[in-house]
Amino acid sequence: MFNKILIANRGEIALRVIRAAREMGIGTVAVHSTADSDAMHVRMADESVCVGPPSSMQSYLSIPAIIAACEITGAEAIHPGYGFLSENANFVQIVQDHGLTFIGPTAEHIRVMGDKITAKDTMKKLGVPCVPGSAGGVATLDEAKALGAEMGYPVIIKATAGGGGKGMKVAETANDMERAFQTARAEGKSNFGNDEVYIEKYLTTPRHIEIQVFGDGKGRAVHLGERDCSLQRRHQKVFEEAPGPAISPEERARIGKVCADAMADINYIGAGTIEFLYEKGEFYFIEMNTRLQVEHPVTEAIFGVDLVREQIRVASGMDMSFQQEDLQINGHSIEVRINAEKLPNFTPCPGRITQYHAPGGLGVRMDSALYDGYSIPPYYDSLIGKLIVHGRDRPEALARLHRALGELIVDGVDTTVPLFHALLAEPDVLSGDYNIHWLEHWLETNL
Ligand code: ADP
Repeated sequence: MFNKILIANRGEIALRVIRAAREMGIGTVAVHSTADSDAMHVRMADESVCVGPPSSMQSYLSIPAIIAACEITGAEAIHPGYGFLSENANFVQIVQDHGLTFIGPTAEHIRVMGDKITAKDTMKKLGVPCVPGSAGGVATLDEAKALGAEMGYPVIIKATAGGGGKGMKVAETANDMERAFQTARAEGKSNFGNDEVYIEKYLTTPRHIEIQVFGDGKGRAVHLGERDCSLQRRHQKVFEEAPGPAISPEERARIGKVCADAMADINYIGAGTIEFLYEKGEFYFIEMNTRLQVEHPVTEAIFGVDLVREQIRVASGMDMSFQQEDLQINGHSIEVRINAEKLPNFTPCPGRITQYHAPGGLGVRMDSALYDGYSIPPYYDSLIGKLIVHGRDRPEALARLHRALGELIVDGVDTTVPLFHALLAEPDVLSGDYNIHWLEHWLETNL
């Protein structure tokens, strides 16, 4: 096992990793920008290294600075958290070239899954059901129009390198095709430096269902059920739960096995998420994320496992501490993402926290790097906390979420907490009756 690891991240996820490492008796090194010298992850780690100025490009994304921080502290492995360098195959290669361990999958798996066309192709060959669409990239508008006519509208044009909801455009009819095709290409080029696009059937009423997988890199892999992340704004998740209210135990076992077998086949190592759209009883693969996800705690809650501990174990060469038959679901868990944003437009709202009080009690977990007097810097993501509740069943989890939101105090900045209070009064949310478009429609009429 490692003696010391470096966490190449900030905010709540850096704390999350430090906590797991500390319980395992592993030393921790935080890295930070000059804007984050007062951040909680710096205070909580055993050691810290300043890696650059506020801009992420020059600090949290600076590969030479992160590698140098390992060398001067003697850290043997790097946990990337999510975002930043977590899905950068080039970084993984450089880490290995320096004799260090990357706590995550191989560069090759990251590369294959990071390109949505090769990801779909690989999954199809592994027997995973995919959204119907073009076979690979679509190079010209004429080709796109021919495919649209053949598949039937609506269709969605997606940048193969896209992420975070960027580089996706819907064509409702043939008349929209030119605009959608050109915009998706332009967004792919400007955001990800790659203008290759592909086409999928646009599903009109699906749920977003994702399967948590975990592999040991030696041909064994398990699944930890699904998360339903259908409540989204601009293709970004805001409310996540496990198990999915619309998924039966038989469906879970079936799609879970398909995913676990696929991961075993490719010798996948560590945590991964296989994302699907789910409509009328069918699963359609859309993409795979080769990292820990923001919403991993709902899975941890219902299975009683520590996914970060498990990531560190397998990265050090140990076996997984569980097998498929050990993984039994207990109760229901919900997470809400608390962002420093001002409603109704979700404008980022950095600033000084004058008072912070975290909720507690049975079945409540608050993952946040906030503290009284902390100033949220304007340079990074607006996620300031995740409130996760666990109950014996969905109604108990919902009641607990309502109770815990009432205890939470974040004074000094605007947050998305009022959105969740409002959502918990909605019959559709209470009954779990929503698809990926529900929240957008609700926001149009209610905020
Ligand atoms: P990103 O990598 O940007 O997160 P994804 O491919 O994971 O993009 O898709 C994000 C979201 O976009 C999905 O959860 C869903 O809401 C929507 N989406 C993606 N593909 C389709 C599709 N074929 N039909 C309908 N909605 C889609």
